[in-house]
Amino acid sequence: MRTKFVAGNWKMNKNAAETHDLLSMLVGGLDAIHTVERVVCPPFTSLMAAAEMLNGTGIGLGAQNMHWEEKGAFTGEVAPGMVKELCGYIILGHSERRAYFGETDETVNKKLLAAQKAWLTPIVCVGETLAQYEAGETAQVVASQTRLGLQGVSSEFAPRIVVAYEPVWAIGTGKASSAENAQSVHSGIIRPILTDMFGAETAQSIRVLYGGSVTAANAVDFFSQPDIDGALVGGASLKADEFLSIARVAAQ
Ligand code: PEP
Repeated sequence: MRTKFVAGNWKMNKNAAETHDLLSMLVGGLDAIHTVERVVCPPFTSLMAAAEMLNGTGIGLGAQNMHWEEKGAFTGEVAPGMVKELCGYIILGHSERRAYFGETDETVNKKLLAAQKAWLTPIVCVGETLAQYEAGETAQVVASQTRLGLQGVSSEFAPRIVVAYEPVWAIGTGKASSAENAQSVHSGIIRPILTDMFGAETAQSIRVLYGGSVTAANAVDFFSQPDIDGALVGGASLKADEFLSIARVAAQ
């Protein structure tokens, strides 16, 4: 039985004061949902404020990106060890980073190996674009992103990885994938690749999330699928009630 996992990707929203306000509404309710792994991922400059508020709670904190090098002349970047000072989780390979900031399967993999070294729990995002979806390339794209992104990971670290299937056409569009489509990608594409790479037992223990316009209203459809182990939530994670409802659905 895999523990359900719900993470909020705040993207470039919520400065430190706004983070304080949102977490004030969220922490009590979210902390009480013990059976679900719950994580929030604010922007870098809000991590300190968030860390203070989450201290002593069961809610995890994640960053949205990092560099793979430990330190050096990489202006504007943040190292795994710096993330680790405040966070236990790291989002890697989000489609917005792939689309706007040159993230590739190769850099995702370097970052994943750096997360392994720092012992940060990675949430690795994969997913096809609308054009790839319409061209029937979903299986090929998702399989290749998963395999290339996760290669070289140790058998000790593999069970810690969280994969998020996020079809790009569903992110921020209000047009979520059907739960059946997501289930078929999870069980028919991602899980078999994980099995091939890490063996059946480890593959069965790795959480595979769905992401893309998840709301409190559609969460039940996704979470009732056997291979959907939770959600990476964007827009709806910025509303305390909505995110809490999603986490409560995951606990059912
Ligand atoms: C995301 O940012 O990863 C995401 C899934 O966004 P949204 O829920 O807004 O589609």
